[in-house]
Amino acid sequence: MTDVDALRALMESDRWIDRVVAQREHLPEAEELATLEDQLRVEVAAIRDAEAAVAPLRAGYEEVAARADRLQQRRRELEAALASSTGGARDLSAMQRELESVSAQGDVADDEALELLESVEAHDAAVDRLRRAIKPRLARREELRSTVDQLRASLDEEVVSLRAAREERSRDVPEALLARYRRAMTRAGGAGASQIVAGRCDGCRIALAPLDLDRAKGQAEGTFMDCPSCGRLLLP
Ligand SMILES: [Zn+2]
Repeated sequence: MTDVDALRALMESDRWIDRVVAQREHLPEAEELATLEDQLRVEVAAIRDAEAAVAPLRAGYEEVAARADRLQQRRRELEAALASSTGGARDLSAMQRELESVSAQGDVADDEALELLESVEAHDAAVDRLRRAIKPRLARREELRSTVDQLRASLDEEVVSLRAAREERSRDVPEALLARYRRAMTRAGGAGASQIVAGRCDGCRIALAPLDLDRAKGQAEGTFMDCPSCGRLLLP
């Protein structure tokens, strides 16, 4: 195997690894998941707010309902006492006045309790609607999470096997060239070599100056110039 062939094989390995790693980092499903999670965060916060708004209403309703019950109880006691009373006229009239007052207060409390109850029910219904509305998105989130996990695991496996193959290929490249290749790869990323395609380095896609093109063409076999732009070893 010539040095050019060995370098080209190594370059292709590295480019392939680079593509798979990029694919792993930019899964469309992961992007959809991130968007969905942002949306769900907003929606869950809206549900929490709606629940928080209903709590004081419910407490208010319970307090007024308890007061209405106490007034109702007192009203029944007074009615019973009046019905069976043999007391003096003054006691009876005092009881009658209290009954009127308790009845009036009881009616106000009943109305207030009813109003609060309707409000609590309307808020509960709104919370229910919000909860039902996000259900399909919660299901989609689970689906996407599992898909993303599976895809990443399979791409990770692919990268491991590609890296093993790449190590094999790197053994065919002479040490001095491999050192240059590594330096270029560290600096430029992706692969440490590139090819001239239509007058451009296909690593950085920058056109070579005519003089550099001539120089690259005139390289003795087994010698390589660096791309003047990205520093990768230029393969013929
Ligand atoms: Zn270049």
